[in-house]
Amino acid sequence: MPARILNGIAIRDQIYAELKQEIAALGAAGIRPGLAAVLVGENPASQIYVRSKIAACEQLGLGSWMDTPPATVTTEKMLALIAELNARDEVDGILVQLPLPPQVDTKRVLEAVDPAKDVDGFHPVNLGRLVSGRAGLVACTPAGCMEILRRSGIPTEGANAVVVGRSDIVGKPMALLLMHANATVTICHSKTRDLPGVVRRADIVIAAIGRAAMIEPDWVRPGATVIDVGINRITDAAEARRIFANFPPKLAQFHEKGYVLVGDVHPGVAEMAGAITPVPGGVGPLTIAMLMSNTVKAARMRRGRGQAAPRRQNPDAARRPDRRNRHRQDHGGRDASRARLPRA
Ligand code: NAP
Repeated sequence: MPARILNGIAIRDQIYAELKQEIAALGAAGIRPGLAAVLVGENPASQIYVRSKIAACEQLGLGSWMDTPPATVTTEKMLALIAELNARDEVDGILVQLPLPPQVDTKRVLEAVDPAKDVDGFHPVNLGRLVSGRAGLVACTPAGCMEILRRSGIPTEGANAVVVGRSDIVGKPMALLLMHANATVTICHSKTRDLPGVVRRADIVIAAIGRAAMIEPDWVRPGATVIDVGINRITDAAEARRIFANFPPKLAQFHEKGYVLVGDVHPGVAEMAGAITPVPGGVGPLTIAMLMSNTVKAARMRRGRGQAAPRRQNPDAARRPDRRNRHRQDHGGRDASRARLPRA
């Protein structure tokens, strides 16, 4: 029997409807949550990602700003920019779009972000809070996977969950979230022995590998829930024919567009699983939804409408003059919102 499709777009829309109410309530208290995105250079994929995040802010009525330093930017300039964003009270969330150019020390830049504004959940303080099960800002993609499970009524308590992938941004936080949700978690990676055998024992499979269609139908226990985090763009005709041999509409899409998207899970798994996220339209929309949710949460926590997260003091940044030797775009003409917002 074909799997139940876990529709990420419908779940995102539910979350947006809830966020709109929360944003309206914050607005009534004079608070407009705002996200500042930093997009370095001209990477087309990064530009698309950042544009869709800014568009989501506009859709929900959040403030948004974008800084676009050139690809030649130095670590020091990036640190100065982050310090300035840390000091701006109307900025609740700071998003540094990765990857950064090789001359920039990515870890130093990410660690310079105020943990209270770290809406990507990449800062060691937030990772530490996640490890110890305390409230904080959680990485968006794994948080989105948990929303899919929760809102689809997939039980996690006592379930065997297998996370394939151990990256800092997906696999590790995913495993921690599942563990806190009382699943029994196995983390797999490129050195795991008998990966198909391990995956076969799972009630819940999370695929975050970055390898097109790698999880095969006979790796999945009938009835298991499969969350496919992967997004792979197939441009090779032979590969498209191999993966989509039994999926004529997908092959037609490939012939029409010259590419087709596939997850880390083979499309044939949908015949075996009990429930599965599609690609596209599964985890992807939730990643952006959780970024919006984290921005609202950061505003609430930082500006006193919830339990406050500890803020790191950065007196240097607070004293720093507003040096704008870069291109700043203030989305939706939101300058007025800066003046309007109350100081914490
Ligand atoms: P990553 O940093 O490249 O990590 C990949 C992980 O997969 C690593 O832990 C690696 O193991 C493991 N792996 C690679 N080959 C393997 C193999 N043959 N067998 C078992 N494990 C293997 O990737 P990521 O950033 O976590 O992203 C994973 C996927 O999710 C990508 O397709 C990415 O595009 C997608 N993604 C989607 C969203 C979204 O919003 N939908 C967001 C983020 C990422 P080792 O540690 O041993 O190398």
